[in-house]
Amino acid sequence: MSLPKLTPIIHEWISEFLKNKKKLAELVDKHHSPINVHNPQPFKENFEEFSQVFKKYNIKHKIYFARKANKSRSMVKEAKKLGFGVDTASYRELEQCIHEGLDPENIAITAAVKNRRLIDLAIQNQVPIVLDNLDECELANATAIQLGKKINIGIRLGGFEHEGEILYTRFGFTFSQAFHLIKEGFKDQFQNLNFTGFHFHLNGYSPEQRANALFQTLNMVDLLAEKEIKTQFIDIGGGFLMNYLHDKNEWEDFHQSLKNAVLGKRSPITFANDPLGMALVDGKLHGEPKVYPYYNTTPRAVFLEQILTFENAEGIALYEVLNKHAEIEIRIEPGRSLLDQVGITVARVAFRKQDMNGDWLVGLEMNRTQMFSSSADFLLDPIIISMETKQTQQPVEGFLVGAYCLEQELILKRKLAFENLPEIGDLICFPNTAGYMMHFYESEAHLFELATNLVATKDNGEFKVARDEEY
Ligand SMILES: *Cc1c(COP(=O)(O)O)cnc(C)c1O
Repeated sequence: MSLPKLTPIIHEWISEFLKNKKKLAELVDKHHSPINVHNPQPFKENFEEFSQVFKKYNIKHKIYFARKANKSRSMVKEAKKLGFGVDTASYRELEQCIHEGLDPENIAITAAVKNRRLIDLAIQNQVPIVLDNLDECELANATAIQLGKKINIGIRLGGFEHEGEILYTRFGFTFSQAFHLIKEGFKDQFQNLNFTGFHFHLNGYSPEQRANALFQTLNMVDLLAEKEIKTQFIDIGGGFLMNYLHDKNEWEDFHQSLKNAVLGKRSPITFANDPLGMALVDGKLHGEPKVYPYYNTTPRAVFLEQILTFENAEGIALYEVLNKHAEIEIRIEPGRSLLDQVGITVARVAFRKQDMNGDWLVGLEMNRTQMFSSSADFLLDPIIISMETKQTQQPVEGFLVGAYCLEQELILKRKLAFENLPEIGDLICFPNTAGYMMHFYESEAHLFELATNLVATKDNGEFKVARDEEY
């Protein structure tokens, strides 16, 4: 039985860039395998896509790029150039944004742990801080007093109600805590903190939950307004879907094939018949694969529009309520979905061998942390770049394996169909890796170097490639 395909969506720049095989091989030689190549054009397109939805509904807005999804400095530079903000989650992320000259108001700090050094840097540079708990309020206030400054702060909210239940989160203040804190705390206890707005970031991909959370935050805004306390912004975080795949049928076929394989009704399509997070108990399959919805019909603009047009119990759409609060700036912090089509990872084939089951193993000069996410597998077909064109086809099936000395060191858990067995020196390109895949889990075990980050930009019809640090 043939293996299911998962054809990725490929931006024009990627197809063009991959055409020059010689140059690509030179880049891999020069910077060592693998390399991560970025292009800022789609970053701009994605930003504009979000922006247009806000404009359509006449909503004051600001878009922040959630830096944690990709560590390249070039994207910070691009964000600055295009006039959007950056959400930072660590001292060095913040330091770089300040160094690049971003307007302090265009930087958000939502770090999960904020130490004195980070808060000090923020206050010195008057970058607003989103506070998560009372200890952070104490620390920020004490630091501000010591520096003889005041600082604008946002309050992170958690504990939203959705369909009669409270959504659990480890982050933020509950509504009653936040209300009390803002009403009393900033007058009495935390005099150097200046409340300016709210922030939340929800897990999962439910537009309804986000809309409900925003409705509830607006209620709080109204309660505070009665006490003459003004809210300037509400930041609704990131988590906007993006779509990686071309074909719904392929996506459904993949799921069906995986289930059949795990149940023994067809040959395996994953390494050691890995169920990708489903459980097989007494011959019955439970759950769904624990993978990102790589194929979906509600990416980015559609997702944002679903949030804004969501209606409350009285049948009033969220954007209508927002239009009544025209002075409030709505902020979003997409990471992954702003990076859609921005990056690729390219690695060199080092060896081929057949394992004991007769499956081909294609060894790459990379390790699996260099393309790794919390999804059970990255479900996109890689692009095989053969250095020499073959006249005949001799299809083989097998797996891509990496450099860490572990039995489970597979670059992809999926079994792949190759038109021909890749040759040593051929290149494998993994498209659309800029969001989380290339950086979030990368490690330097065995003292392997981290992958080099490059930026490719079109210049007079040719690609100019620079190291990220030099871009
Ligand atoms: C992770 C995170 C984001 C970005 O999430 P995406 O899913 O990449 O859009 C934004 N804001 C906060 C606070 C986050 O933790």
